[in-house]
Amino acid sequence: MLGFTLSEEQLAIQKLAREFAEKEIKPVATQFEEDEEGRLAEDIFKKAAEVGILGLPIPKEYGGSEASNVECSIVLEELAVGCGGIATAIGASWFGQTPIMMAAATEQRQRWFPPLTRDGNLCCMAMTEPAGGSDIENPHMHSRTIRTILRPAGDDYILNGTKIWPSNSTNAFLYTVVATTDPRLGDDGSCLVLVPRGTPGLSWGKPIKKMGMDADMNSEIFFDNVKVPKENLLGKVGDGAKLLQRTLIYNRAGAGAIATGIARGAFEIALKYAKERVVAGKPSIEHEIICAMFADMATEIEAARLLYLRAAWFNAQRGLANMSWSTMAKVYASDVAMKVTSNAIQVMGSYGYSREVGVEKYLRDAKIMQIYIGANELTRQVIGEAL
Ligand SMILES: Cc1cc2nc3c(=O)[nH]c(=O)nc-3n(C[C@H](O)[C@H](O)[C@H](O)COP(=O)(O)OP(=O)(O)OC[C@H]3O[C@@H](n4cnc5c(N)ncnc54)[C@H](O)[C@@H]3O)c2cc1C
Repeated sequence: MLGFTLSEEQLAIQKLAREFAEKEIKPVATQFEEDEEGRLAEDIFKKAAEVGILGLPIPKEYGGSEASNVECSIVLEELAVGCGGIATAIGASWFGQTPIMMAAATEQRQRWFPPLTRDGNLCCMAMTEPAGGSDIENPHMHSRTIRTILRPAGDDYILNGTKIWPSNSTNAFLYTVVATTDPRLGDDGSCLVLVPRGTPGLSWGKPIKKMGMDADMNSEIFFDNVKVPKENLLGKVGDGAKLLQRTLIYNRAGAGAIATGIARGAFEIALKYAKERVVAGKPSIEHEIICAMFADMATEIEAARLLYLRAAWFNAQRGLANMSWSTMAKVYASDVAMKVTSNAIQVMGSYGYSREVGVEKYLRDAKIMQIYIGANELTRQVIGEAL
């Protein structure tokens, strides 16, 4: 049946996330840039765990809420209204957990899921490498560009390679690593392995200074002869490419939600301002040209939300997860986020451009939404090919 309302339970989760963003995130949202070690964000992740946000998708038997892609996406929109970087870090933690949900043996789930609901512990999806991220996500490249190598060594594996850019690079509790036993084997050599923080040979560089998303810690990650027990392999060698593509379906819907939240955050500030700011003798929103800009912004935000909700709803039904719809949600919402955040600044004049007012941060956060989890050129190709 077609329905356009959220259930009571979904509304309650949305309210919880909205209040969390208002109370815990918004008051410090412009301070992450100065907080190079990520201490402020760490505090927020701990509080997110305490109220049950961090463990949302994790099965109930391991201390989570077993929330579907719909509830998780709704929460990501609310968090992104507070700060895109916090939403990205939490969304990326779920990104790293998705293949564990899909392919880990029971002992692995028992071992890794409970800690990921507690203490602000985050997961990291370590996929992108210095020579390129898009080609690892691109199904046509068949895993041939992966240079992180997993080599069998008796009862264990040995992992060597370098990643760059993953969310939660420096502060993750657990790393889900995209690797290959041999790039020449293509997808048949692809694999995903789990490496916990503290494993000898695992290290990372300094957090990279970026245009935005400062609450998210991105850096190089080094795997130098890291010993990985055989049981830390998700599924079997050759499953990596399939698992990664299936994981992208769920997390692209989430990215659509984050982009929607970034657009909404800027829109809400600009709308309030335009009702109060008097230009040419009346509030600026009463000028037709400004009013039409707000009409377009509101319409596009609604459309972006409907797209991610539809994708997430299908993803939540067994056997109906849909790459095209999730990818459409990500591409459309990220373009909307860029347009809306730019127009929000425009209607606020120089106040919009000021660092102190805080609306320009949304524009800086929006840009990467067109690039991460599939650059929009690659993802448009994915949508086009499915047609
Ligand atoms: C804040 C942030 C969070 C991130 N989180 C993660 C994470 O959690 N895990 C992770 O592994 N990585 C993460 N990344 C990395 C991000 O996913 C990659 O940077 C992205 O996939 C693009 O890879 P690249 O930078 O190597 O660009 P490249 O792959 O070199 O691509 C450069 C450009 O080439 C074009 N292009 C690429 N492929 C095609 C194609 N097939 N057709 C046409 N044009 C194309 C696009 O315009 C693209 O932007 C994150 C990055 C940032 C900044």
